[in-house]
Amino acid sequence: MKIITTRNELAEVLEEYRVKGQTLGFVPTMGALHAGHLSLISASKQENDLTVCSIFVNPTQFTDARDLELYPRPVESDTLMLQAQGVDVLFMPAAAEMYSPDEHWEIDLGGIDAMLEGEFRPGHFQGVTQVVYKLFMLVKPDIAYFGQKDFQQFRVIDRMVDLQGLSISLVRCPIIREADGLAMSSRNAQLSPEMREAAVLISRALFAAEADQAHFTVAETISRALEILGESPLLTPEYFAIVDDQTLMPVGEWTDSESIIALTAVKAGTTRLIDNQYLRQVDFYS
Ligand code: AMP
Repeated sequence: MKIITTRNELAEVLEEYRVKGQTLGFVPTMGALHAGHLSLISASKQENDLTVCSIFVNPTQFTDARDLELYPRPVESDTLMLQAQGVDVLFMPAAAEMYSPDEHWEIDLGGIDAMLEGEFRPGHFQGVTQVVYKLFMLVKPDIAYFGQKDFQQFRVIDRMVDLQGLSISLVRCPIIREADGLAMSSRNAQLSPEMREAAVLISRALFAAEADQAHFTVAETISRALEILGESPLLTPEYFAIVDDQTLMPVGEWTDSESIIALTAVKAGTTRLIDNQYLRQVDFYS
C-alpha cells in the first residue's frame, strides 16, 4: 500500500495507474476505522482495479471545535487495517495540504443541507461538500463509495455531483451494525459503558418504527419511537424524523411517498450519534 500525504505525489502516482487504463474506486473517510468502513473498501475492491482510501479529519465540517479536537485519530492501527484489506493507495494529507488559509466555499444545494443534520450542525454539509469536491478533483475516481449510515450526507453529495456535472458514480453501502443493533461509528468509542448500553435504544426505536407503520399513523409512530429513546435518561434525541427519501421532507401520511425513511440523531453526553432505517422503499440504492 502506498501512503501519500501530498497532492502532488498523489497526482503522480494515480497518473501512473490511469495510463494503464485501470478503474479507480475511492473510499473517503475520517479514520478511526471499523467494519462499516471496511465494507466500503471491500465493495470498491470487488468493482475496481484500484482502490484509493483517504483519511482526513476535515476541520471545515465540524461545527464544534471541541468535537474536532476529541475526534479519534488512531493512525497506526488504521494504516495496518487498510494494508490488511489490500487498499492500494492511502491518502492522508495534513489540513494545510488541503486548504489555503483564505479559502471560501459555498454551494447552493437547494436546502437539503439546511434540514435535519443541517439544522443542528449549521454549515456542516458545506464543509462536507467542500472536502469531498476537493478529494474528487484530486483522486478523479470512477466510483466513490459512501455509507447509508450518513444518509443525508449521501443525498447532499449526490446533489453536489449533479450540480457540478461530475462523471463519478456514487455507491451507497448498507449500514453495518454491532451485534445488538447499534450502527458502527467512530464515535461509539467515546461512549461510557452505561451510554453504550443505552445506545441500543437508537436502533431499537428505528426498528420499532419499521414495524409500527402497519398499525399506527406517522405521528403516532414518531411518538412511540421517542418513547423508546426516552427509556434512558442518558439519551437526548435531537430529532426523530420520518421523511421522503429523495426530498427529505417530512411525510404526514404513509401514502404521501413510496420511499420513506426514518432518520434520527441522539446525544449521549457530548457524543452525537446518527442512524436511520428505511420504512418503505422502492429502488433502495438509487
Ligand atoms: P466517516 O469516517 O465517519 O466520515 O465515514 C466514512 C464513510 O464510512 C462514510 O461514507 C460513512 O457513511 C461510512 N460509514 C460509517 N459508518 C458506517 C457503518 N456503520 N456502516 C456503513 N458505512 C459506514
